[in-house]
This record gives sequence, structure tokens and C-alpha cells, in this order.
Amino acid sequence: MATASQSMSTAVPSPAELREALVRIAGAGRVLTRPIDLLAFAADASFYRLIPRAVVLAKGTEEIQSLFEYSHASRIPLTFRAAGTSLSGQAITDGILVEVARHWRGARAEDGGKKVRVQPGIIGGQVNQMLRPYGVKMGPDPASINACMMGGILANNSSGMCCGVPFSSKGFDQAHDLAANTAIERFWRWSDEGRLPVVVDTSPCTYGLLTCRASLTPESQKKFDGLKILDAVAFVHDQLLPKLTVRRKQEFVALHPVCSVVKMNLTPKLEAVARACSNSVLVPQAAGCCGFAGDRGFLFPELTESATRLEAAEIAAAKFDGDGTGGDYFSSSRTCEIGMTRATGRLCRSFIFLVEQATRP
Ligand SMILES: Cc1cc2nc3c(=O)[nH]c(=O)nc-3n(C[C@H](O)[C@H](O)[C@H](O)COP(=O)(O)OP(=O)(O)OC[C@H]3O[C@@H](n4cnc5c(N)ncnc54)[C@H](O)[C@@H]3O)c2cc1C
Repeated sequence: MATASQSMSTAVPSPAELREALVRIAGAGRVLTRPIDLLAFAADASFYRLIPRAVVLAKGTEEIQSLFEYSHASRIPLTFRAAGTSLSGQAITDGILVEVARHWRGARAEDGGKKVRVQPGIIGGQVNQMLRPYGVKMGPDPASINACMMGGILANNSSGMCCGVPFSSKGFDQAHDLAANTAIERFWRWSDEGRLPVVVDTSPCTYGLLTCRASLTPESQKKFDGLKILDAVAFVHDQLLPKLTVRRKQEFVALHPVCSVVKMNLTPKLEAVARACSNSVLVPQAAGCCGFAGDRGFLFPELTESATRLEAAEIAAAKFDGDGTGGDYFSSSRTCEIGMTRATGRLCRSFIFLVEQATRP
């Protein structure tokens, strides 16, 4: 996502100066600054929107080097976009958006298909097609493989990350241990060796990670001990909300605190966040395990139907304002949210949507 540029110490170039500088680097045909173009590039696949100051349809590594030099001198951040299928607003910016898709589509198999050399703008599925004659495919296998591009796949480490919970909940201990060790190794790298906290927005994964120490190698255990892993509920309650201004409260919302939130003793914080963003909050008396258990709810819907019957009845009797499609029912785990949406007929989604709606400027 975009880096805030408020802390600029040098003068901000005017839009005309910015355009001139970028045209000198990339040529007029590949620098977009018309409002209609900026709006067209203001969104990726996420629900966020930031309007870039300029878009460069970049071509060639020398050009990228010059863009970095200009970004450094002007203090305007660069953000790269490949296919823009990021779901968390990573490929949008209020700085300079550098599109590395259309002029970067090259790929070549090497060493009998054991290696592949790619440019960032080739679609992952096309690389796999190219590798088919060798009987191999790439390791990363995101669900968006036929839309996303190698730049985004590599920068995001797509599909490479799992906390291991889906394996442990099925008794696949070796797969769990491998996934947990890999996750901790990567957290160590991404967090600058523990300097930055790691925030997890799906509570069962947070709980799984916080309790995985015994499954780790001695080396990963040392890293685990140096990490700060936070659930999004705690992060939003303790750090984010105090810095935000609540501008519009919802009248009435209901919460589904998932099992891991209860185990981590985070229900009071989830409730406090909801109270800060709405006038009235219902935590159903019968709220409990939704029975979704990772993917069990997909395979055995009768499990969730039975587990959620009492809670669903309380939700059905509650006095909501809307018809259930507008977002007044919140939780902190995607699969449980799917289970509760099915059980109640009301859209259940992350409490972060509630915070975002309440604090949007
Ligand atoms: C329907 C759907 C299903 C999805 N399923 C999965 C899934 O199963 N697993 C998964 O991991 N993700 C999934 N995603 C998220 C997303 O598709 C992947 O993260 C994907 O790899 C992003 O690739 P992209 O080309 O769209 O990158 P973008 O969205 O364009 O960019 C993603 C990030 O990479 C950076 N970036 C892009 N190119 C470069 C470059 N050349 N140099 C440096 N940084 C660069 C961007 O700045 C941004 O931070 C899904 C998304 C959708 C819409």
C-alpha cells in the first residue's frame, strides 16, 4: 500500500513539474496524468481507493532506475502494480503508480524446465502453460493464478504462506510442523528480525501461531521468541482505534466472537471496538463454536447448521435496521463468517469493515 508522504522535507513538485520529470524519464506516451486515467488506476482488486499523482507504464530496467532516483529526490513514493489482484490495497497509492504489466511479458524456460526466467508482467497461468511440455509447474498456486502476474506473485510470496492450522485440525502433524516452521522463518525476515509486530487478521491463525512453539525446530523457536505476533482484534483495539476518529456510528451491530478469540481472551476487546463504532452491540448468549472448523463446514453443512441453531435464533430475533445485506454482523475469521452468514442469512464479515466504515474521512 502507499507510503504516506506527509513527512517530506523538500518542496513537493507541482503536478506540471511532476509530469515533466516523468515524461523526461518515460516519454509522453507512457505517463498518465489526466484525471480520468488517475481514477482508472485508483483501485486494484481490493475495496480501497487511492488516487495516484501520476501513472507510469514503465518499460525497461534503466527507466525503473531513473524512477527510483526521481522518487528519492522528490520524496514521492513509487508503488508497483502488476495485475492489481491484491485484495489488501497493496497496488494502489497516492504517490507514483508504476505499472509493470504490459511491457514486461517475457518468460523463458531454462535447464530443461528446471528453472524459469520471467518478467513481472507475465500471468502465472501462462508460465505454467509454458512449462507443461517439461511436465512441471511453478510452486506458487494462488487461486488467482490465471489473472495475477509474476511480479505480484513473487512480491507477495503468493500462496506460500499458511500458519499450519488447516493441517493440525485434520491431524496432519508433519504438514503442520512444516507450515508453522516456514511461517515463523518468514515472519522473522518480514518483521526485520522481530523489529516490527506481525498482525494476523484471522483469529484462528493467530491462535495457531501463538501456540505452535512446541512444533518448531530449536532455531525457529529462537525466532518465535523474538517475534511479536498480534491478533487484529488486539491491534485495532490497542493501537489503531486510538489514532482514528469515529465519524459515524452504526445504530446496532451483532458480533460473533470465534472460539480462538474466546481462548485468547479477546472478546472484551472485540466488543469494545464494536461499541466505539456503534450505539448498540449484541453478543448472542448462545454465541459459540460455529462448527465450520476450517473447511468442515463446506463439506458437512449439517455440522454448522446444528452448531449454530441457537445463536442463529437470537440473531433472527434481534432488531437490526437493515435487511442483513448491508453489514451489521461482524467477526474475525473468514471461514466462521461464511458459516454464520449461511446460518443466519445476514452478511457476516470482518469487524475491520465496521471500523473502516465508522472512521472513513
Ligand atoms: C479471486 C482472487 C483469488 C486470490 N487467491 C489468492 C491465493 O489463493 N493465494 C494468494 O496468495 N493470493 C491470492 N489472491 C491475491 C493476489 O491475487 C495475489 O497476491 C497475486 O499474486 C498478486 O499478483 P498481482 O500480479 O495481481 O500483483 P499486484 O496486486 O499488482 O501487486 C501485489 C504486490 O506486489 C507488488 N509488486 C507487483 N509487481 C512488482 C514488481 N515488479 N516489483 C516489486 N513489487 C511488485 C505490488 O506493489 C504489490 O505490493 C487472490 C486474489 C483474487 C482477486
